Amino acid sequence: MEPLNTLKQRLNEVHNLKLSAAVLGWDQQVNMPPGGAIYRAAQLETLSRLSHELFTAEETGRLLETAETQSAELDYDSDDAALLRVVRHDYDLATRLPTPLVAELTRVTSLAYEAWATARANDDYAAFKPWLSQVLDLTLQVAEALGYQDRIYDALIDQFEPGMKTAVVARLFEELKAVQIPMIRAIASQRDRADGSVLRREYDLEKQKQFSRQVAEQIGYDFTRGRLDVSVHPFTTGFGTGDIRITTRYEANWLPSALFGTIHESGHAMYEQGSGPSIAGTILEGGTSLGIHESQSRLWENLVGRSRAFWQHYYPTLRALFPEALTDTDQDSFYRAINRVEPSLIRVEADEVTYNMHIIIRFEIENDLLEGRLSVDDAPDAWNAKYEQYLGITPPNNRLGILQDVHWSGGAIGYFPTYSLGNLMSVPFFNKAVEAHPDIPAEIARGEFGTLLGWLQENIYRHGRKYMPAELFERVTGEPISAQPYLAYLGQKYGELYDL
Ligand code: ZN
Repeated sequence: MEPLNTLKQRLNEVHNLKLSAAVLGWDQQVNMPPGGAIYRAAQLETLSRLSHELFTAEETGRLLETAETQSAELDYDSDDAALLRVVRHDYDLATRLPTPLVAELTRVTSLAYEAWATARANDDYAAFKPWLSQVLDLTLQVAEALGYQDRIYDALIDQFEPGMKTAVVARLFEELKAVQIPMIRAIASQRDRADGSVLRREYDLEKQKQFSRQVAEQIGYDFTRGRLDVSVHPFTTGFGTGDIRITTRYEANWLPSALFGTIHESGHAMYEQGSGPSIAGTILEGGTSLGIHESQSRLWENLVGRSRAFWQHYYPTLRALFPEALTDTDQDSFYRAINRVEPSLIRVEADEVTYNMHIIIRFEIENDLLEGRLSVDDAPDAWNAKYEQYLGITPPNNRLGILQDVHWSGGAIGYFPTYSLGNLMSVPFFNKAVEAHPDIPAEIARGEFGTLLGWLQENIYRHGRKYMPAELFERVTGEPISAQPYLAYLGQKYGELYDL
């Protein structure tokens, strides 16, 4: 298999260029002084151009084609067969977009970003509208270039969740709405059953750091192959299986930010630290899609970190660290506080019950705009009407409504659903682990996470990118992705919390 080996060498070079860019990106967000910005942008541009050129070169295509013709003998589950499948998907995506379209997208989105930032500050949707129109027009061109059979959005979502179809997402979202909207209404009438004010007291930053690090380490994030730093927006980034870093942010008067942010990012990082030895250092290491990635971060953040069992173990430690803030709060009240449901206008602050609604609203509006059912003129009213209908709240202005997020200005259309897909997949994964090891909940209550981590490692992490997301999900759970397990989980947990 000479062509395959030559292809692998080339791909490893592409991979190393991308990882080098990731190091610079991490440094930019964690360490770099402001004066470095323009130089860093140029450095990142050079590296990204080099890796793109090397990957999309005709020689890569020739090697890939030759290797594919010789691959019939490969076992489907072998690393080599998986490598060829993944490279074919990536290569087609990377080569279908014409260079002038990519350049135009880069030009328009950098201007659109400036326009959005000003429009948001001034609550001036009219100023952003022409830019949104241009971004949508270019997005339609991207979809046409990438190709799709059924819905325009299919081409867009495939970039982030390979193989996922818009019709499937739409059906799942209808099932979520049918249960979650009435649940949100029912909880609104029981609002006083949880009080979140304890989380807004004064929490010493050094002690928060100590506790977050301790939790990350104990759930299994390997600090000999990782780091925890501070950044404005928390993220996980990796430079190969042996160096996967996370960041968080500490707020003195909002305990959940660092605490759950660190658990969430640890979930992403443990997934990437877990790539098997045979794929480490190759393009198969890491996570297979944004949705599967989010299923791992959410599993640790919500199913573990916001469970009663988890706080049975950790609450005494937390209370000992913050005796003043938590003096009048028992474990049950704390559990209720961290699981309090409150419809809000901002997605990043949303709880487990309302979170998906923010995603669904964006998904529906994006599809209506792309498929011509909604004009950019009417988009703010449509946005506000959906917030009223799904969450029972109306944005008082466009700054807190349709202008709240940066994504559209950057042309990032098609990946929001991966957040909800991650929520949906987290529950069947967790259920499957507990089915295999019924002691897991009792172990969590003792602060032991090794069995759960080992199961995730064996069934999900070690495969890296070898399987497409839906394929991996079905291999592990034996079923296609559905909304029911997540809805059952919400119904049980919040039914008890809010006496529904
Ligand atoms: Zn995440």
